[in-house]
Amino acid sequence: MIKTAVVGAAGRMGRRLVTNICESDDLQLAGALEISSCPFIGQDAGAVAGVGETGIMITDDAAKVFADCDAVINFSTAGVIESTRLAVKNNCSVVIGTTALTDEDKAALKEMADNGARIVFAPNFSIGVNLLFYLSRKAAEILGEDFDIEIVEMHHNQKKDAPSGTAERLGQILCDARGLDYKTDVRHGREGICGARTRKEIGMHALRGGDVVGDHTVMFAANGERVELTHKASSRDTFARGALTAVRFLADAKPGMYDMQDVLKLR
Ligand code: NAD
Repeated sequence: MIKTAVVGAAGRMGRRLVTNICESDDLQLAGALEISSCPFIGQDAGAVAGVGETGIMITDDAAKVFADCDAVINFSTAGVIESTRLAVKNNCSVVIGTTALTDEDKAALKEMADNGARIVFAPNFSIGVNLLFYLSRKAAEILGEDFDIEIVEMHHNQKKDAPSGTAERLGQILCDARGLDYKTDVRHGREGICGARTRKEIGMHALRGGDVVGDHTVMFAANGERVELTHKASSRDTFARGALTAVRFLADAKPGMYDMQDVLKLR
């Protein structure tokens, strides 16, 4: 059994991770971490997740939890770098799903991996979205510059960051395929007299509303025809299952920084 702890255990994703770990045959819930102000501290993580009593209480004592586990899954919304440093110090592999990490955060993770840590960091753990990444790159390469590219994402009304980490990754993949620069060539929304679309830009649009788990569409529009690639997530379990697959992958992996394209062998 792979002894696995969840960071952000009382969150929307944390609860699905706890549930999926409890229902798996090869992973064992070994810890459930939250911020000290979380009202669920001291409560059973399984009961909070709705999967029944597990004997694992939600705590803010990361040092104690990491000392006795093999793997850590972090889908929290803050403190990811500090938490990962501590997990790595305790020889745990780390799977990170948190989005909106800064470039400095990502560089810090890479440095840890270069120094022997085993990390999977991915903006989206669903197999379908990772296929969308792959197909979007292929479509951009095949369709070429006659096709304008626009990315549209929609998420629930509680999502804190925009565009989504997944839309950002799609933008990076498409910029890469077109020889563009994400920072200067991606155009976020349009308003007013913004002029005709240029050949160089990739449009990015973030919609928010209701309880939408995560929709992403990449549009390739030319004169006379349009190709649309769409993925719609209807359950957070798709991300949770992907994160568990990443934990299994890291159990046999060499030190390094990986993403779901590596885990799913889509490179
Ligand atoms: P949420 O707000 O419901 O849950 C986040 C939880 O993290 C909260 O319970 C919060 O108290 C906890 N937390 C914050 N700081 C912490 C810390 N320092 N230590 C421990 N716990 C801490 O959010 P959510 O909808 O579950 O999403 C969480 C993150 O996962 C977001 O960044 C979201 O974009 C991302 N996400 C990624 C994927 C993916 O496939 N990669 C899928 C869904 C969501």
